[in-house]
Amino acid sequence: MNAAKSSTGIGTIATADAERYRGRFAPSPTGPLHFGSLTAALGSYLEARRRRGTWSLRIENVDRTREVPGAADLIIRTLASFGFQWDGPIIYQSDRTEHYAAALDRLSRRGLVYPCSCSRSEIELAARGSASFADEVRYAGTCRSGPLHPNRPLASRFRTSPGRIALIDGLQGEVTQDVHLEVGDFVIRRRDGYFAYQLAVVVDDADFGTTQVVRGADLLDNTPRQILLQQALGFRFPTYAHLPLAVDPTGAKLSKSAQSVAIDPARGGLLLWQALAFLKQSPPASLSKAPALDVWAWALEQWDLSRLLGLKSLPAPPP
Ligand code: GLU
Repeated sequence: MNAAKSSTGIGTIATADAERYRGRFAPSPTGPLHFGSLTAALGSYLEARRRRGTWSLRIENVDRTREVPGAADLIIRTLASFGFQWDGPIIYQSDRTEHYAAALDRLSRRGLVYPCSCSRSEIELAARGSASFADEVRYAGTCRSGPLHPNRPLASRFRTSPGRIALIDGLQGEVTQDVHLEVGDFVIRRRDGYFAYQLAVVVDDADFGTTQVVRGADLLDNTPRQILLQQALGFRFPTYAHLPLAVDPTGAKLSKSAQSVAIDPARGGLLLWQALAFLKQSPPASLSKAPALDVWAWALEQWDLSRLLGLKSLPAPPP
């Protein structure tokens, strides 16, 4: 079989020519869909459709403590009324606990996991005085050789080793991080028993055969951790394209600002037009008043991800 080479930056892997593109959108049900999540949904969807691939919808409710009742259904209804069409059944992380447990077990058997009793304030205290990277507090490795307080509820941490992880992001270019140095050993199962996003996302993308992850640039920093887990579990590496983040006029991430009000699909055509304009696709002005179906037809024809090369954040339109 002919093989096309695709570089992940962590070695060159061979992928079969005929392999089908599989994309996905993976919202967390912590609130209604907002403009930022609409752009992530639209970017991942159009890229999948342009590449004649599949696009699945995964509700990332692994963190049940942050789930807002009704939010998952509201997101699904909003996507449907905009006209998004997902392939296959909707995946719920809450149904997939056994798969995360199996992955944790595999990592444990390889000696890559240890129990940790540290509380957040203890972690912050231990990190004081050491180098700090972005807004991440590095875990100092306090429980590496055994939990300091074994009678407390214990988290499971992934044991990292020094060394840089490098990836070539389809939009952001080369990204490198020494996870051990900048993040430290990270939690894959929390003290309250819930699996962490980092593990769940890697297991899900592997199980459902995601070939490319298209998502917001706010998750770029998480990617090297996810690559470490993919390596340790022997999973294939998807490629990545991190879309610019929608920010408000102060530069704050939209979903964290007052502007992130729920979007109203009754204004479907205009909102899709605005999302396409945000994603630098330059939709014609005449389409801004057109029905959503016409905007879709234009977008499916004209979508070009490369127009977003190098853009890390962009201002969202006023609500
Ligand atoms: N659930 C994450 C979010 O809503 C997205 C995770 C991902 O796409 O990998 O921000």
